[in-house]
Amino acid sequence: MKPNKITNRMSFGMWLSFTLLATGIAGLFWVVLETSFRVNYKNENMEVLDRAIWAAMEKYTSPEFEDNLRFIAGSGEYFIQLVSEREQQLLLALDNQGQESQVQAEGIIPDNLFDLLDEGKGFCSYCIEDTVRNMEWAVEAMVVANQEGYRIVLVFSKSLANVSSLIHPLRARAVFALFVVLVIASFLSLMITRRFAGPINRLTEMAKQLAEGNYAVAFPKGGCYEVEQLSETLEMAAKEFNATEALRREFVANISHDMKTPLTVIKMYAEMIQTVSGENKTKREAHLERIITEVEKLNGLISDTMELAKLQSGTWELKMETFDLSHLVRSARLSFAVHQESRELQIDLETEEGLYVYADRKLISRVLENFISNAVKFSGDMKKIRIKTKREYGMIKTTVQDFGAGIEAEKLPYIWERYYKVDPFGTNKSGTGVGLHIVKEILQMHQAQYGVSSEPGKGSCFWFRLKAAKW
Ligand code: ADP
Repeated sequence: MKPNKITNRMSFGMWLSFTLLATGIAGLFWVVLETSFRVNYKNENMEVLDRAIWAAMEKYTSPEFEDNLRFIAGSGEYFIQLVSEREQQLLLALDNQGQESQVQAEGIIPDNLFDLLDEGKGFCSYCIEDTVRNMEWAVEAMVVANQEGYRIVLVFSKSLANVSSLIHPLRARAVFALFVVLVIASFLSLMITRRFAGPINRLTEMAKQLAEGNYAVAFPKGGCYEVEQLSETLEMAAKEFNATEALRREFVANISHDMKTPLTVIKMYAEMIQTVSGENKTKREAHLERIITEVEKLNGLISDTMELAKLQSGTWELKMETFDLSHLVRSARLSFAVHQESRELQIDLETEEGLYVYADRKLISRVLENFISNAVKFSGDMKKIRIKTKREYGMIKTTVQDFGAGIEAEKLPYIWERYYKVDPFGTNKSGTGVGLHIVKEILQMHQAQYGVSSEPGKGSCFWFRLKAAKW
């Protein structure tokens, strides 16, 4: 698909979404307004009636009671009746102009008015359908006096105009407002779309190039904050891809070299057995010994690579148990005792009993072996290694320190990356650069803290901290 087509489709889609959204919000606003208007209309009328009837009732004993009723009826458009319980006799009836009128009482005062007043302890309010005039009334009635055992009741009523007829003129205006909103929203969304779609389209093009393997691609800057963030993230991803690709190439070169060397040696000794030492038992056994050593080297290389693949596939299941880390450290040190004898290497150990942790024993042992074997490999002429395991603020901290080559500060952050070797062509060519990456994976699986401090020429100190467990 051509970029123009993408832009057009994307722009149209965005424009349509924004416009529909704005129109939807405006429409929703109207629906909520109309519904709440309908619901509140009756309640508000009742409240108005309530206030009026209380105001009128306060003056019942005063001589201006009737004049006051006329005034209230005229000013508030209420229909007011004064009814006696004796045969429901109408003592006074005022229309909404404050004039005396008998007509409106029918349809407003129900036959069971006094039953309702009994239930409401002298007060009642209701809405009633007036079949005579085909309209609805809001009514409130209140007992104001008792004459000769008959209750005198004040009845206030207000016609509830047809809500729809009130809303109708507003609705026509709402349609016009909706149309104006639609035009404005359409125009605004066109502007917003232009601002978004352009940079996104450029990003899409660049991301495609990235997918095709062009890691040097430069992502455009500018546009809104989100687009800029996306651009930066893609740029970071490109850098990561680039670095991983470089490491992968280096690893392939390393591993081919690492595999080729033992294979050449194996082939050479096998040929020697075939042609020279076949009959000579002592020589033959020495050559076979060499072959076995090289095969073991190859085996280690392959199992390292496989172990990493397994750890990273997410299928590795931790076998957690509580054990004394000091015992594990002691036995890890013992397995390097052979170096102590052959290279006059001194491995000091400082620890105490009872440093319990809850972890995968096999994997933690792998971490220790890696730290110690690196310390042995890189300790150079300073033939001394110091291992410490101690309790520290509810944690158990283990450090493996050597006094050898050390690592330059700018290279330190990379040593945990897979396939990374500080000096890939140095004297120590046997490593694959995978060991510390495996360590990192293991310690992260245990949610353990870990790190290294190092100074070139002075040595390195690798450490990790596990939560202390109760035994
Ligand atoms: P390798 O198999 O190459 O040892 P690692 O992942 O264990 O792989 O280590 C990565 C790199 O970190 C090593 O190649 C080495 O350059 C550096 N490194 C690790 N431990 C030490 C150490 N104790 N002293 C100096 N450099 C070290």
